[in-house]
Amino acid sequence: MKKLTGKSFYPFMNKHEEYQISDNWIISKRGRKNSVNSEKPYAFLVEKERTFSGEIEDTSVIFLTNKECPYHCLMCDLWKNTTDKPVPVGAIPTQIEWALKQMPQVKHLKLYNSGSFFDEGAIPVEDYPRIADLVKNFETVIVESHEKLIENKCLEFRDMLKPELEVAIGLETANPEILQKLNKKTTLFNFEESIQFLTKHRIRSRAFMLFPLPFLSESKNLYWAKKTIDYAFSVGVGTCVVIPTRTGNGAMNVLLKNGDFRLPDISFLEKIHEYGIGLNAGNIFVDVWDLDKLPGCQKCKDQRISRLNFMNLNQQIGERIECECNF
Ligand code: SF4
Ligand SMILES: [Zn+2]
Repeated sequence: MKKLTGKSFYPFMNKHEEYQISDNWIISKRGRKNSVNSEKPYAFLVEKERTFSGEIEDTSVIFLTNKECPYHCLMCDLWKNTTDKPVPVGAIPTQIEWALKQMPQVKHLKLYNSGSFFDEGAIPVEDYPRIADLVKNFETVIVESHEKLIENKCLEFRDMLKPELEVAIGLETANPEILQKLNKKTTLFNFEESIQFLTKHRIRSRAFMLFPLPFLSESKNLYWAKKTIDYAFSVGVGTCVVIPTRTGNGAMNVLLKNGDFRLPDISFLEKIHEYGIGLNAGNIFVDVWDLDKLPGCQKCKDQRISRLNFMNLNQQIGERIECECNF
């Protein structure tokens, strides 16, 4: 067996493929990037979301095109719609301006950039004033960032904004060992520090968490999903978002093939959702994007996805689905 060379470097041997999780291995498993245009976001949409104060309101989401995130997390496929080099100063505001013209005026806006908004290589600081001006008619602006990039730049941007700022961070899991294996190059301590920083400066936070995690059995996955929600709310996170883990980035496909990862089961997502809602500690959402493509019982899949949608919007436990797959 090869030697371990660092915190994010783990050996796994099995009958299919021997691999060691590292930046190089993860990158080596990738396919090609999609063709993107630095003057246009790669996607935009309007979705309904329950707000902090309990209303169900439209939220615009703009998926900005910018330079690839410098981290290389095991499960990440966001690199697919990124550039290799930084986009020029002015490109990000141009993308936002263009997208806003295509969408209805709503109260809330998510600016997701396949990485960290506070990564200067992705969003130039020089663009902050123009971005702040473009979004001045919204009530809330939500951006995403790696926890290690949450610092004073965040306050500079907040001070330019008229809308309230919320920052989403990928916690992924409260299981410290699995967190290291995800190659995120962070710790729970870093996460807590960033949430404390945001809370101290009265900036709302949301945490993305992965389900299921690789390398864990179904029962352990359920246990750690609940623990992760408990942990997030206990350190001051305002909103939890469960992201069903997907394949498609190359590395996760190898894990799936090797039996180190299983695709999410919708009924487990329902259980986690029920648990989170039952805590009554803050909003908890389950991302339903592409859930219809998962394997599993075809008879009740649509009903289960509708139930998750209902629970997302109402933060109430929906009527349980009766199906032969339950028995
Ligand atoms: S920090 Fe986020 S965007 Fe960057 S590689 Fe990890 S999951 Fe992907
Ligand atoms: Zn079924």
